[in-house]
Amino acid sequence: MQPSELSDLVRAPCKACGAQLKFSAEKQKLSCDYCGNTEDIPFTKSNLHENPLAFRVEDRQLPNAPTEEKRLFTCQNCGAKTTVNYDAPTITCAFCNSKNVNPDAQKTRLIEPAGLLPFRISKEQALQRFKSWVGDSWLAPSDLAAGAMLDNLHGIYIPFWTFDAQAHSNYTGEAGFYYYVPVQVRDANGKTVTQQQQRVRWEYRSGSHQAFYDDMLEMASRKLSEQESQVQEASRYDLKEIVDYDPRILLGWEAEVYSIDLQESARKAEEQIRSREENACASQMGGDTQRNLNVDTTLTNQTFKHILLPLWICMYLYNGKPYRFLVNGQTGQIAGERPKSAWKIALVVFAFLLLVLFFYWLGKR
Ligand SMILES: [Zn+2]
Ligand SMILES: [Zn+2]
Repeated sequence: MQPSELSDLVRAPCKACGAQLKFSAEKQKLSCDYCGNTEDIPFTKSNLHENPLAFRVEDRQLPNAPTEEKRLFTCQNCGAKTTVNYDAPTITCAFCNSKNVNPDAQKTRLIEPAGLLPFRISKEQALQRFKSWVGDSWLAPSDLAAGAMLDNLHGIYIPFWTFDAQAHSNYTGEAGFYYYVPVQVRDANGKTVTQQQQRVRWEYRSGSHQAFYDDMLEMASRKLSEQESQVQEASRYDLKEIVDYDPRILLGWEAEVYSIDLQESARKAEEQIRSREENACASQMGGDTQRNLNVDTTLTNQTFKHILLPLWICMYLYNGKPYRFLVNGQTGQIAGERPKSAWKIALVVFAFLLLVLFFYWLGKR
């Protein structure tokens, strides 16, 4: 059976030469790689409203699992035909390398993105960040900074959920305060000596705490979730700069549709809010130590948004071992693992041993 054709591909031909335009991180415009022509893209902010969470969590009509369905992709640049996954948001032509956006991919999910943060960090800037980051650590092997990793660097719009909630907590518990009493004890030689011993005076406490949690970010890519801590480190975005979702801003970039659904992410955000409330109540309760803290948190006005955020991802091999680093596509903030140079580490250990020997020698004199 012949797969049906992908319709509605985003068409943004250059007015001067006809080639497909790309979104340029440096220019913040659509730009032509061939003749340098640019076209303005209006950044609007009219669809960025919050959605009530309770309503959406129950409303499930579409599967959240990736669709296997294939469609026929006809390249608008060179005419080549290939089959692609229907839920692939961006398609690079295997023949002419032209970049295409399939806006229907986002419709294979229950919830479409409301907004996105356009890439601000270009590929060259991302690589520059990596070089200075590796250079920062003199423990890193020096041949890394040369950077054979340009080809492995991918600019991807990653799906995220953001959650808002008003939290109100009531707590009860006991705050403990230390004091010291002199106690007569016998030492090893049987002599009576006076020692200061610690005691705790317990005080019952109760109170309440409230806070508004704004834009709690939860990443919605299953693939990336294995590197959760790294992603968190690289995903401090300024969400005030979010604009309305426009598929043309994806032109020339890669993108993902969400694979972690709203329910799962909402639950994680809620857990985070509850644990932050517990910490806030504990610090409000005070004391040198605490026991029997009981916090009861109620969440109201829970809302969410679905957004796409820009991230540079690089996977590379060093001495046969895979490493990964991430660069925030808005701020340039970097996270990941730096390979360490074996002989530089040996040098540090050797220097430390010398120092120990030196102090030992000083002590002997
Ligand atoms: Zn052109
Ligand atoms: Zn092509």
